[in-house]
Amino acid sequence: MMNTQAVAAYLQSAAAHELADLLKELTNDEKSLPELAAAARRQKEAIFGKSVYLRGLLEISSYCRNDCYYCGLRCSNKNAVRYRLDDKEILNCCRSAYALGLRTLVLQGGEDAAFNDDRLCRLIERIKTDCDLCAITLSLGERSRDSYAALKAAGADRYLLREETADARHYTLLHPMQMSHSKRLRCLWDLKELGYQVGAGFMVGSPFQTPQTLAQELVFLRELQPQMIGIGPFIPQHDTVFAACPQGKTSLTLLVLALLRLLLPQALLPATTALNSADEDSRRQALLGGANVLMPNISPLRHRPHYAIYDNKKSLGCESIDKLDELTRLLQEWGLCADFSRGDHPDWL
Ligand code: SAM
Repeated sequence: MMNTQAVAAYLQSAAAHELADLLKELTNDEKSLPELAAAARRQKEAIFGKSVYLRGLLEISSYCRNDCYYCGLRCSNKNAVRYRLDDKEILNCCRSAYALGLRTLVLQGGEDAAFNDDRLCRLIERIKTDCDLCAITLSLGERSRDSYAALKAAGADRYLLREETADARHYTLLHPMQMSHSKRLRCLWDLKELGYQVGAGFMVGSPFQTPQTLAQELVFLRELQPQMIGIGPFIPQHDTVFAACPQGKTSLTLLVLALLRLLLPQALLPATTALNSADEDSRRQALLGGANVLMPNISPLRHRPHYAIYDNKKSLGCESIDKLDELTRLLQEWGLCADFSRGDHPDWL
């Protein structure tokens, strides 16, 4: 393998077909993951030190109008248990997380028409009044540019919307024809232009993914320059089209995380719940490599099992707000430091 500095430089300018060859070479060489993870860690610590930023993740609705082939919340999944938090529950969860010190609150959910702009704007304003020092991140799927603008004006700071795949043909294999790749990418550019801190991302090992499509992710992210990137292994969900597809590899996820840190050194990169659900030790490995964010679940306990986007999704223990002390201790054991601050992207400081 070329040395890690050469890889970092190559990532900045290589074409997609060259990156696809690099990915093939790296995945075939077992020495590449430890070397790249160590380089990613050095890069991360030069900018963020030992901090791991904690974000409270609130899953506000399991209703979704979309029918993504990989996701347990897809509208055609008649076995899914649907719930929708009311405004009071949302505010209570946010206040509790804020009282415990969390300064980023993430509202995530399926694309649920019940959360229209008026309702969301009122909610955002209330959260910002009650939890005045917090950043609000939304992850509520595709909306119009006007909607994103209204939510931003109400006080939303950040938006997570994974592109899922940067390859238009691959997108059609993961989604029904009513869903549009160009619309998804347009949303990301709209969010960027509106001044959000933007999070993009994709599943590693999703069905039909190849080194070529993965290379296209790198090229797309290099162009978009998002402030956050969420990646995790694809994990099958038993009521979806891809129930029988193999799970994405955690080793490849860790490798791609390291590459993303080298590609976008200032990015906020979570060690995602999917990574932890696939293999507990991979969360530690991610945080000792390129990742620097964790998102403990702050949803009401009774609803957590029903936000079942994939099988065996973890939402308890150190994935939960109830065990923040344990999580803080664990990070300390690993030589890291739980950071409760807003954790904005360095360009926003
Ligand atoms: N509806 C919003 C959206 O579309 O961005 C946010 C919720 S969506 C469930 C959050 C993310 O879960 C998706 O972007 C997708 O990458 C991930 N996801 C869905 N199904 C998954 C699966 N089977 N394995 C791993 N990740 C999955």
